[in-house]
Amino acid sequence: MAKTVACPNCGTGIEWNPENRFRPFCSERCKMVDLGAWATERYRVPVVETDELEVPDEGDSPKPN
Ligand SMILES: [Zn+2]
Repeated sequence: MAKTVACPNCGTGIEWNPENRFRPFCSERCKMVDLGAWATERYRVPVVETDELEVPDEGDSPKPN
């Protein structure tokens, strides 16, 4: 008697068995989608606002004649 689980990504019912390498997902695609979301969440870094680098304004530099 196989246990059926719902794919965490799309909700499709799948049989839970060791031969399903994508479990608990229904397919590789759903697995990758979920992993991608997880990775995005994990590696999300706070946005650091950086001031623009001050670039020396060379326009006012006197040019020797
Ligand atoms: Zn799925």
